[in-house]
Amino acid sequence: MTAPIVIVGAGLAGLRTAEELRRMGYGGELVLLGDEPRLPYDRPPLSKQFVRGETDDTTLRPSEFYVEKRIDVRLSTEAVGIDTAARRIHLASGTGLDYDQLVIATGLRPRQLPGLPELQGVHILRSHADAVALYADARGAATALVIGAGFIGCELAASFRAIGIDVVVLEPQATPLASVLGEEVGALVARRHRAEGVELRCGIGLDTLHGDTAGRVCGARCSDGTDITADLVVLGIGSTPVTEWLSGSAIALADPASGGGVCADAVGRTNVDGVWVVGDVAAWPDETGAHRRIEHWTNAGEQAKLLACALLGVEPPTAARVPYFWSDQYDVKIQALGIPKPTDDVHIVADDGRKFLAYYSRGGTLTGVVGAGMTGQVMKARAALVAPTSVTELLAPR
Ligand SMILES: Cc1cc2nc3c(=O)[nH]c(=O)nc-3n(C[C@H](O)[C@H](O)[C@H](O)COP(=O)(O)OP(=O)(O)OC[C@H]3O[C@@H](n4cnc5c(N)ncnc54)[C@H](O)[C@@H]3O)c2cc1C
Repeated sequence: MTAPIVIVGAGLAGLRTAEELRRMGYGGELVLLGDEPRLPYDRPPLSKQFVRGETDDTTLRPSEFYVEKRIDVRLSTEAVGIDTAARRIHLASGTGLDYDQLVIATGLRPRQLPGLPELQGVHILRSHADAVALYADARGAATALVIGAGFIGCELAASFRAIGIDVVVLEPQATPLASVLGEEVGALVARRHRAEGVELRCGIGLDTLHGDTAGRVCGARCSDGTDITADLVVLGIGSTPVTEWLSGSAIALADPASGGGVCADAVGRTNVDGVWVVGDVAAWPDETGAHRRIEHWTNAGEQAKLLACALLGVEPPTAARVPYFWSDQYDVKIQALGIPKPTDDVHIVADDGRKFLAYYSRGGTLTGVVGAGMTGQVMKARAALVAPTSVTELLAPR
């Protein structure tokens, strides 16, 4: 009997890969392994509706779905090692699992700041369990300190404001989201947070945390020597790919200095026969050919489709891929289409103080469009991102 296709990581990318394999007619055994105790769930609501108390269940598919699709989902099951020659995964339970094809979909884990005192009330946010703990603490909090104004930090600041918590955000860079969208658009995001009452302190990092006699966080010392009072603290300082369990194997990993992850070709095939990678942990080639991970929801589903086609030898979809992500902050959806880079030229084409639209270009060619509260205009730019388009022509009055 042939061994199954095994997917390690029961998150969005793992689930979507299983779904696509079945949709494309794979009838063999399919195992989806996850180390969390829950069925695959959606993470985007965790920093938004979940922390605001508007939902407590973000499960992607009910248990009947897995029965109907014959997906053997095994929860609380951690892969701890791999023998690619024997096509066998080692599990934390001490047992092993043979595979015919293996899909790595182990996602990310949030970075921690080394050297901080261990205190109650200090949070990270990646999993449902993290969100439950954060929600519980946020109920009783009057003040929150968010370290890092990336997407998760910004979304949490907005969610905390929505439930009446005073928020201080520390961001070592000049603006929020500077390393993703650049400082010009970052300044527009900063303006909105300040207008909503967030004390956004840019160019400042965290020195240490203060605790009370019960071992609970009560504040922080900033890198400029000032002190802040806080009932809870969230570290939103980025994440690293979960690849330790592959160490010692021949599977090629990308340089940690450029984001790390598992290297693959443009359909998710790694350098080792029968091993594939998908989602946040996957370093597929970018538009320059360099291996680069993408930490966004839409990407996980798109990669899953391409990978499943390649694994089954099915013709892939022909529609051009235009990368997309979104982030909900206050009453606006920030959306990005294309590949905007912080080093690109930025053209702000609309800005009413709350909503804005920006085109990004490199060497005069449109690379991306970013909008806040501008869904129609962002989506309208899709065609201009599929074929090379001069930004001057696009900006010319009609
Ligand atoms: C709070 C939050 C908000 C977000 N908001 C947005 C948003 O607004 N817009 C957007 O575009 N994207 C957003 N994202 C990103 C999006 O959710 C991710 O891109 C998506 O979850 C990636 O899916 P994945 O399956 O690759 O990784 P994950 O969802 O992390 O799934 C990986 C799974 O593998 C498991 N695993 C890890 N190691 C092992 C092992 N050794 N054995 C077994 N299982 C293992 C993990 O526990 C996890 O369950 C958000 C992410 C977070 C955390």
